[in-house]
Amino acid sequence: MDHFEVSGGVLHCEGVALPAIAAAVGTPVYVYSTATMVRHAQVFRDAVAATGDPLIAFAVKANPNGAVLATLAREGLGADVVSIGEYRRAIAAGVPPERIIFSGVGKTAAEMEYALRGGLLQFNLESVEEAEMMSAVADRLGLRAPVAFRINPDVDARTHKKIATGGALSKFGVPIDEALDCYAAARDLPALDVQGVAVHIGSQLTDLAPLESAFGKVGTLIGELREAGHDIRFADLGGGLGVPYDRDMPHPPGPAEYGAMVARITADWDVRLVFEPGRLIVANAGVLLSEVIRVKPGVGDDFVVVDAAMNDLMRPSLYDAYHAIDPVRPGNSQMTVNVVGPICESGDTFATGRTMGTVGAGDLVVFRTAGAYAATMASTYNSRPLTPEVMVSGDRFAVIRERQDIEALIAADVLPEWLG
Ligand SMILES: *Cc1c(COP(=O)(O)O)cnc(C)c1O
Repeated sequence: MDHFEVSGGVLHCEGVALPAIAAAVGTPVYVYSTATMVRHAQVFRDAVAATGDPLIAFAVKANPNGAVLATLAREGLGADVVSIGEYRRAIAAGVPPERIIFSGVGKTAAEMEYALRGGLLQFNLESVEEAEMMSAVADRLGLRAPVAFRINPDVDARTHKKIATGGALSKFGVPIDEALDCYAAARDLPALDVQGVAVHIGSQLTDLAPLESAFGKVGTLIGELREAGHDIRFADLGGGLGVPYDRDMPHPPGPAEYGAMVARITADWDVRLVFEPGRLIVANAGVLLSEVIRVKPGVGDDFVVVDAAMNDLMRPSLYDAYHAIDPVRPGNSQMTVNVVGPICESGDTFATGRTMGTVGAGDLVVFRTAGAYAATMASTYNSRPLTPEVMVSGDRFAVIRERQDIEALIAADVLPEWLG
């Protein structure tokens, strides 16, 4: 459920009519609903409540805006971070260090040091080589690093290949059949506190079976690790639950089904669980609001050229992702068109042969389900300024990221002295 609904013929975000935001901030602009984010956080918390007192660590990479993080921090969510930039954003937004998990395949010594000094619940390590560096860094600081290994359970997550992470040949995690050796090696290192296991097999998962299979393997591993004398107190089950993008497709399993499956599989694990949902919390809480520049006749379907482009919303060109596109002032008629941005690449196409509500030049449209992996992937390709973001709460809205100034964009380039 989200809080984007038509009222009086105009699409609103909570109590705010979207044309008011377009008039105040311009387009394209991301618009987030506080009530939707808060609701999703609560629904997820309720769904996993039967597993004890888990940590729900929001995957910051899905939407790292400080206002989004602060909203979720107030709901008691922690943060799953994958870089020192994300770590610092989480701290700045008020996430307590003991609710932070540091994931990622390429943590540097500088990142390890920063997070060790600032504090965190756990580093999820991805190799023995990384464990060795972690121990050396912690030892130098006179600290102990709380760690888990991210296990690669070798399951097919059945999602887009660019967001599947749990296959044997992927770059992520340690192969499950080498896990016991990795833990043995880590135990011999001086400055590690080996406290957990972690797994994350991919994103936008629309089937619980691969998750259940991965968690089953992790459960078996926890038993083997304990037999080998490791004191395993945390199990991080990652994120990955999919959200509905296309209204005409069957909905993915919801948080309640997921929570029931997890409670069943983990009933006798005797650990504190950690969850790292990203997309599930924020995807449906955001839209990308854009204006139609013109409709260009096509040899086939016409082209609706909007002022948002692949630099603002990369998912369609990166993952062939589907976003529902709706007029902000819906009428009764429909049209079948291609929806494209102004960028000089054929990949700058949001939809082909899409049947949607009729719009023309100057009309506003929204790309739905654009709260996750959207604004954060924006670039300045084609020298387009970074997209602004707005947060709505009830009948108020605030700019939570200003539109980048073109002057600033140009001024960021530095001429070498021989061209000065
Ligand atoms: C991306 C990521 C997540 C979040 O995935 P979602 O599909 O957005 O829930 C969680 N954990 C790790 C390690 C990730 O890389």
